Amino acid sequence: MTDALGMAHDLPELAAVAHRVLPDLLPVQSLEFFTDTPHEGLLRFAADDDFSGSPARMPDASPTSLLLPVGGEGPSAVVHLVLRHSTEISQEMSEMFVRLEPALRVALNRHLDQRQLEREQLELRESANHDALTGLLNRHALQETIRVDARFGVLMIDIDHFKRVNDQFGHPTGDRILRDVAAACRNALRSTDLVFRYGGEEFLALLMNSDRAHTSAAAERVRLLVAHLAFDGVEGLDGVTVSVGAAIHHRGQPVGEAIGDADRGLYRAKRDGRNGVCTAWDG
Ligand code: GH3
Ligand code: MG
Ligand code: MG
Repeated sequence: MTDALGMAHDLPELAAVAHRVLPDLLPVQSLEFFTDTPHEGLLRFAADDDFSGSPARMPDASPTSLLLPVGGEGPSAVVHLVLRHSTEISQEMSEMFVRLEPALRVALNRHLDQRQLEREQLELRESANHDALTGLLNRHALQETIRVDARFGVLMIDIDHFKRVNDQFGHPTGDRILRDVAAACRNALRSTDLVFRYGGEEFLALLMNSDRAHTSAAAERVRLLVAHLAFDGVEGLDGVTVSVGAAIHHRGQPVGEAIGDADRGLYRAKRDGRNGVCTAWDG
């Protein structure tokens, strides 16, 4: 048994082997691992969540369970064996558990390393797709998320006279306004809609399954919500406005074309005096 467990590559494999061989020796019902990790505290690893690890409390000792500490280098850990009924643990059995510790330790550490790596990769993917200032999706994410085979509304949203705002109130205040306008765009739209920081003070929203009526209503909602933003503590700033161009992306149409339509709407909204919405279909 020690040999079989020593061959196990990671926690799931080790648990599978243990499940196979342990019931010959003990009335084992289930088996779980508890590890005290530096960043997440005590985690429980078990087959019921594919050993992904979830926060847990240490189980209480009871006559129908065994808590076996795992020695060796690495975070403190125990194996919890839930038994079908209480049983006497022989001296020989205790010694066998001690001999299993190195194999358990190796599998556990390997599993934790792998899990950490996967989390870092996920974080990296997240940060690669998001704009650091506003938290919105970035242009890189646009390439990845766009669905040419779907119909959606497209909004191009641009802050009016933002250069003046920057010049008058400074870049840090400009940054704060960008964050607030980004949040207003998000709040005006549904959680299924995608909002990107498309350029400096320009945002792109893709409104899933939206027709003309819904798209222009959403554009108007964005415009109004931004116009009503209050910037407490910024002396002399009454507010900011956005101009919005709206278009529809049709199934199979090149996405750049629909974005171009929205951009032309935006251009007209600027020309018409700003703080307004122009749609591609009314142009
Ligand atoms: P319009 O109404 O025609 O859109 O005028 P505008 O001044 O908004 O347009 P313009 O393109 O002339 O200027 C955009 C400004 O946005 C210039 C730039 O300094 C500012 N900007 C771009 N990115 C950032 C940013 O990350 N932070 C801050 N504070 N300002 C930014
Ligand atoms: Mg602008
Ligand atoms: Mg612009």
